Amino acid sequence: MDFGAPIFVTGHRGLAGSAIMRRLQALGYKNILLRNRQELDLFDIRAVRACFQETRPEYVFLAAAKVGGILANRDSPADFISQNLRIQNNIIEESYRSGVKRLLFLGSSCIYPKLAPQPLREEYLLTGPLEFTNRAYSVAKIAGIEMCRSFNRQYGTHYLAAMPTNLYGLGDNYDPQTSHVFAALIRKLHEAMERGEDQLSVWGTGNPLREFLCSDDMADACVYLMNMPQAEFDRLAANEVEPPMINIGFGSDITIRELAHTMAKELGFQGRIIFDTSMPDGTPRKLLDSTRLFSFGWRPKIQLQEGIRLAYDDFLRRGRSDTA
Ligand code: GDP
Repeated sequence: MDFGAPIFVTGHRGLAGSAIMRRLQALGYKNILLRNRQELDLFDIRAVRACFQETRPEYVFLAAAKVGGILANRDSPADFISQNLRIQNNIIEESYRSGVKRLLFLGSSCIYPKLAPQPLREEYLLTGPLEFTNRAYSVAKIAGIEMCRSFNRQYGTHYLAAMPTNLYGLGDNYDPQTSHVFAALIRKLHEAMERGEDQLSVWGTGNPLREFLCSDDMADACVYLMNMPQAEFDRLAANEVEPPMINIGFGSDITIRELAHTMAKELGFQGRIIFDTSMPDGTPRKLLDSTRLFSFGWRPKIQLQEGIRLAYDDFLRRGRSDTA
């Protein structure tokens, strides 16, 4: 990407989009296009068209999405499928119409079949039934990948889907009902310490395995992918056999129990950790196989302990006031 090229980061207020924006700014990109909800309604195809025609982005990071943790997904499946389909359809469609050079569509590791072999390779897409708790979200994201593939095949576009593993980081959602586990536990631990409680209740059995990646590492990978030489980018995006997709993972996973204990230690919580098995576990494991990405030499830099401290500082700075 040229440093003056117009680059549209959709969803720049969210965890993934804000990290991409920060990364681009840090690298010195000068022409980053950002639109908040008041300025552009991504559900409105005419508004999206007008914006693309006016700003003519050359690169699009499609990070705008309706996202949420296990409970939000379980309780509002209609919102997850319908809002995500509308946002991504509008952006992909208008990217094509306005001649965007490259688009990176962000998905998630939950698009893979619930019982696929681990670690999850890109080619396992659509090889089995999905996890029930986030099926609506997953189907929308799978449709987005198929949009990328279909536009690439029919129109010769260069659209690639990136599947990050479970993310955490600056600007995360700390709302107890809708957050993902990482942010949820940061908040719960903080509040338990504040109230002087001697136990922390964690949802599920504690046995599920999850892989956690800091959003800053993910953003670094996304910008790296967007900047790949054309032939390499197209080997990923315009591959006839495999989906136009690349996993962005950390490389190893831990149980929810281990996560809770590691966080408790980092934050200085000395109470007991108990498990509320009336809450869902979700999929037993979702470790990504990031061999494709790692084969280019890219590696994550932020280790779990450092990530926990980053996230806790962020929560202390702004998380509480945002969602309390
Ligand atoms: P998932 O990765 O799509 O299943 O989404 P989450 O990040 O919401 O949940 C991951 C795992 O953490 C599940 O097994 C949850 O039951 C467990 N978990 C434990 N405590 C919490 C919590 O307070 N909030 C959330 N969202 N998940 C929790």
